[in-house]
Amino acid sequence: MQYISNRIIVPLTLGVMAIVLIAVLKLAYASSPPLVETGDFSLHQDKAILMGTVIDSGGQDISQYGFVWGTSPDLENAETVDVPMDAESFEMEIGALREGTTYYYQAFARNSKGYGFGEIKSLVVPENLAPTIDIISPADGLKVTQGEAVSFAATGKDDREVAGITLEINGSVHQEAQSSSIDYKWDTGSVEPGTYEIKVTATDGYKTTEKIIMVEVQPKPVQSTPVVTQPAANTETVSRGTTPHYTPAYNSNYPKLSKVNGCFGQFRYRDTYGGRIEIDPQWVKENIVTITLPGINRQVQVHKDAAGAFIKAFTYIQNGTAVINGKTVPLTSLVRTMDGTWVPRHIGWNPSRNLSNHSWGTAIDINASDHYRYVDPAKEPHDPNLILWEKAFKPAGFSWGNRYGDAMHYELLW
Ligand SMILES: [Zn+2]
Repeated sequence: MQYISNRIIVPLTLGVMAIVLIAVLKLAYASSPPLVETGDFSLHQDKAILMGTVIDSGGQDISQYGFVWGTSPDLENAETVDVPMDAESFEMEIGALREGTTYYYQAFARNSKGYGFGEIKSLVVPENLAPTIDIISPADGLKVTQGEAVSFAATGKDDREVAGITLEINGSVHQEAQSSSIDYKWDTGSVEPGTYEIKVTATDGYKTTEKIIMVEVQPKPVQSTPVVTQPAANTETVSRGTTPHYTPAYNSNYPKLSKVNGCFGQFRYRDTYGGRIEIDPQWVKENIVTITLPGINRQVQVHKDAAGAFIKAFTYIQNGTAVINGKTVPLTSLVRTMDGTWVPRHIGWNPSRNLSNHSWGTAIDINASDHYRYVDPAKEPHDPNLILWEKAFKPAGFSWGNRYGDAMHYELLW
């Protein structure tokens, strides 16, 4: 019995041990770090999408995957980014790429056996050239007689795409288009004689080019009717508009209708780009005027019925002072930047939001760089925008955007 059992048990034990050993070795060889392939990229201006594929998971669950990328060819000091992945292929967007720069990237994945890396690939972000502008008409230095119409035509060219082109006359925007060319007829019937700076600006969204020509408007030889001055001249009183308000007739070029903004009316408009809108030019012609703000001596465009309030606020700024830390300073010194009045656009430049009151020329932004926020009067009693609110805008009838966290913004809610 003893003899028989030994003859069976010993080989059996050895056999079992061998099977176990083979299984363990097989498992050990079957699992390895993942096999990864670095894929192609697609480049969109300053952003790129990188692609990668896990060719073989190495028999283990993948615990991490992503890309190493940077400007060094051997990816020294590179940034590692993990991306979520469901399939074998994964991709990731990298942004804020510098033009004219070569970037290197490498896909990786990890399992319990370690990291697997694809090959290092490169992508080149081309240099972005600024647009060029061709002013087709009029010629620089054109002289016209008051009352004549001047035709402006200009085109922009760019290595990417011209995103927008703007025509300004003496600093006021007269036309803005989301295309590469602009056509505009300037009626000089109600402009003062003088030399006007015509500025055309083209942008590709990243770089901007401007070109300036001068046009001289000469007075009519015989002036039978007095020159119409703009309503801004009146600094004595603030008159709230008496313009009758009606719903503008449907216009297929401007299919959308704004809300009625109190006594400033409503207009038809169309969406353009980047949250901007284009307002029916007839409404603009009838309602938007150019004024010079006292104190800071800046020309701005505002609603004709808001002009008086703007002049009033800036007359307070021109004449007023504030005491800050025991020192008397002029209010004009508190206006570090003036960041826009009439700007036809959606709130926050976001096309899904309502129209901003800037579209009606009834709002102004001041000291924008550090005032897109709430100013706590108790904690910041010397904040310039708080002082300007108390000493100029409030007495002139404005509301302050501070209550909804936009301290740069003053508007008329009439
Ligand atoms: Zn604003």
